[in-house]
Amino acid sequence: MTHIFDLTGKRAVVTGGGTGIGLAMAQALADAGATVTLWGRRQEKLDEAAAANEKAGFLTQQVDVADPQQVTDGFAEAAKRMGGLDIVVANAGISAGPKKLAEVTPEEFRRVLAVNLDGAFFTIQQAANVMSEGGSIITVSSLASIDATPRNYAYGASKSGVIALTKAAAVELARKQIRVNAVLPGWIRTDMTEGSQNNEKFNNAVIPRVPARRWGNPEDFGGIAVYLASDAAAYQTGTSTVIDGGYSIF
Ligand code: NAD
Repeated sequence: MTHIFDLTGKRAVVTGGGTGIGLAMAQALADAGATVTLWGRRQEKLDEAAAANEKAGFLTQQVDVADPQQVTDGFAEAAKRMGGLDIVVANAGISAGPKKLAEVTPEEFRRVLAVNLDGAFFTIQQAANVMSEGGSIITVSSLASIDATPRNYAYGASKSGVIALTKAAAVELARKQIRVNAVLPGWIRTDMTEGSQNNEKFNNAVIPRVPARRWGNPEDFGGIAVYLASDAAAYQTGTSTVIDGGYSIF
């Protein structure tokens, strides 16, 4: 009997898959039987991730999601190598250092939008072009799409934009039997939050307000990736799933 979350024979791309939440999602997809290609800007990080997870059998591709041509070529190559495409996780993202409104430069604002919003758009658009019927696109937004993000203007704007893209694409792509759903992480222990993890004031002020009383771990996102990718979620599209240890409701 096949398992309800079985992904055997499915082919996946995870953007920003060399580290953090993306890598943990990629590991879970591979554990469930999928063939997974990791995308990232730095080939050495991708090689490291593949070597450290030999059992997962990751393929890797150096692709900058902010570059539409690289994304288009990347999906063509990924589909050729894996024999098709069923699952895409639009996870790649960056954050800018905290800045007051008056101090944000146009260049910094654009830099974050280029990766987090333009990158998510190119990823969804080109994935849909090559994806099989029954495919699943998972976007990684943030609680920053709901909560105010003072001093992180571009990040909040980009992650709200990802929700808008997710919903719009979910409606249009439903005709092609492709689902699009967003995951919204809370405070997760990854490279992106290293500064906050090492900041005593932050740890004393914020983490005690998380009902689960701890930082989230990348591994906390494996289950949602497998579920949303699987046929168990066949009737789920356009949704936003918060995974934050209860932070946003407390
Ligand atoms: P991370 O820094 O480990 O992961 C981000 C990955 O994206 C890295 O591997 C990086 O190399 C890659 N990347 C960056 N720019 C890229 C580009 N132009 N093209 C391709 N890859 C690129 O941090 P993470 O926390 O695992 O972040 C993963 C996602 O989760 C991001 O979208 C982030 O905004 C989101 N998120 C994280 C948190 C958190 O607390 N860590 C909270 C909410 C949302």
